Amino acid sequence: MPDKLFGNTEAIVVGGGPAGLTAAIALAESGIATVLAGKKPAKPDNRTTALLAGSVMALETLGVWDLCAAQAAPLKIMRIVDDTGRLWRAPEVKFEAGEIDLEAFGYNIENRHLIAALEARAAALPSLRMVEDEVLEVDPDEDAVTVALAGGEALRAPLVVGADGRRSLCRDAAGIGLDTRTYRQTALTVCLTHSRPHRDTSTEFHTPSGPFTLVPLPGKRSSLVWVLDPAKADDLAALDDGALAEEIERAAHSILGKITVEPGRGLFPLSVSTARRFADRRIALIGEAAHVIPPIGAQGLNLGLRDAASIGEVAVAAHRVHHDIGGAEALARYDKMRRGDVSSRSIAIDLFNRTLLTDFLPVQGMRGIGLYMLDQIGPLRRAVMREGVAPRAVQPRLMRGELL
Ligand SMILES: Cc1cc2nc3c(=O)[nH]c(=O)nc-3n(C[C@H](O)[C@H](O)[C@H](O)COP(=O)(O)OP(=O)(O)OC[C@H]3O[C@@H](n4cnc5c(N)ncnc54)[C@H](O)[C@@H]3O)c2cc1C
Repeated sequence: MPDKLFGNTEAIVVGGGPAGLTAAIALAESGIATVLAGKKPAKPDNRTTALLAGSVMALETLGVWDLCAAQAAPLKIMRIVDDTGRLWRAPEVKFEAGEIDLEAFGYNIENRHLIAALEARAAALPSLRMVEDEVLEVDPDEDAVTVALAGGEALRAPLVVGADGRRSLCRDAAGIGLDTRTYRQTALTVCLTHSRPHRDTSTEFHTPSGPFTLVPLPGKRSSLVWVLDPAKADDLAALDDGALAEEIERAAHSILGKITVEPGRGLFPLSVSTARRFADRRIALIGEAAHVIPPIGAQGLNLGLRDAASIGEVAVAAHRVHHDIGGAEALARYDKMRRGDVSSRSIAIDLFNRTLLTDFLPVQGMRGIGLYMLDQIGPLRRAVMREGVAPRAVQPRLMRGELL
């Protein structure tokens, strides 16, 4: 049995990754007494996140963006280059933010800087208590959820936000199943310094094994996400810095000049999974506890931040009128808010990824025609850009710059 019980908590967030921190800030900012319980990840995260315009707006509204904007690089141009070498090759497609009257599609930032800014903002909120500990057990009942920590404490609240990543304990406690498809692909991640400027341009080379994507960081630096056959990814990750830099320079067709790899490499096996429901038994799932998608088109955490903004919006609205913030009505509203956004993006990215991997000529041809149309038809290209940056259907209040 736990040693101590904390009685007056209104919401518990499990997991201190970017989605969990954002949800905790959104709840506590509106005066909901919140505890965030999270253990540090086993390995440092060397990834970066391309935050699209709506996510940046939400972080601005929550007072986080000012704390990390200096470490982020604007994404003004996005290029897609067909590097499959196949018979049906698509033309290069270039999206410019200026075409839809935006200064930038978004900003790319190293996850460590984003997390540091979120943690600093969280520490300044009187309604938020941060507990660095592992959650061992999540036990929902009719009135509330009890959360047992490894250190012996127990927390109890009417709402738990499960932000504990892809192997979510909260998802199991809520009795929610997962639909998963795994790919024979692994993403190799590394940050780079280069001799030529990136000119605020992200370049995605489409190769037969998946995308090779360079995304700008401040100065002459970029992050790389290279999607490969798993064995090839392991081989590359085992190379010394000089040999890996040469391989990257070759795959990048030297567009960034001479490459130096920075310390820290990550390997991420790719899969797509979606929780069958996003909330049940007083537990709402957000971020990768609710959905995992391949790192194509910078959607994963942008979806996760929309989850965080949505559960914040639902809980604050219920709290304001003294309704049960973790009750069935609130959770059904949250599930409804998120279902379409998550499903449509997961399906689109899954399909797109599979058109890259297929050897079936007609599908390759369709992909080429699709990209050709995007290149040639201005209104279509602009509609796709707007939908990618700020989906019309689902924009929680924080993404529109409105406080909860
Ligand atoms: C190669 C790659 C590149 C990507 N690039 C982008 C991009 O450009 N743009 C984008 O939007 N998305 C991107 N993504 C997706 C993005 O990285 C994820 O969506 C995001 O990291 C998920 O955040 P999260 O907070 O949901 O989960 P996590 O970051 O996994 O956080 C979960 C947290 O919960 C903690 N935790 C787990 N279990 C427990 C427990 N029992 N007790 C306490 N704490 C616990 C963990 O320690 C961790 O801190 C990328 C993904 C990959 C693989």
